Amino acid sequence: MPRFAAGVVRFQEEVYPEKQELFERLARGQSPEALFITCSDSRIETAMITQTDPGELFICRNAGNIVPPHTTSTGAMTASIEFAVAALRIPHVVVCGHTECGAMKGAMNPDGLAALPHVREWLGYAKAAVDITHELGADLDDDARMKMLLEQNVILQLQHLKTHPAVATALARGALRLHGWVYDIRTGGVDAWNEETGRFESVADRYAAEVAKHAAGSHGCAA
Ligand SMILES: [Zn+2]
Repeated sequence: MPRFAAGVVRFQEEVYPEKQELFERLARGQSPEALFITCSDSRIETAMITQTDPGELFICRNAGNIVPPHTTSTGAMTASIEFAVAALRIPHVVVCGHTECGAMKGAMNPDGLAALPHVREWLGYAKAAVDITHELGADLDDDARMKMLLEQNVILQLQHLKTHPAVATALARGALRLHGWVYDIRTGGVDAWNEETGRFESVADRYAAEVAKHAAGSHGCAA
């Protein structure tokens, strides 16, 4: 039995019983807090990174955490974004890139993708980020340039998100907030885009006010 199939048996015998109430509640519907768009890379474990339970994140994954700009043609991302924002009315969208991203390495070196025509075409949606990185990062070393590309790609995909009518409408209503993150596989660090300062900051700093409010709220409950 492959490890992942054996894992299902262990889930059913050991994990499910502990959370049976949660799963039964979820069978009646979902109300996720965020649409979480990230790379397909196996090293990203969304529930672990965000410490969330089933039902809390509506997840879309693809090579390079890409959001194609809206067009009249339908794709998996278009339909999922529309459903998440217009039907489920999810209040947050996170685009989360990550270090050591094979897709972003490919985007930086498209000549190496001759045997992967679909990957090469898909990464065309990151071209503006690559161009910006070549423009602004010409003097940087390879690591710093790749970090810049990861960040620019997240910013670019946030811009693409805004072209989707469901997103644009929810933003206009003040009912949606967009977040751009980069996850560091080696250190567990997560940096978040701050549109006002034009910089990426640690999640702890970026959301300090909210985290403090949350902590104060739970103290209130305990007392
Ligand atoms: Zn990746």
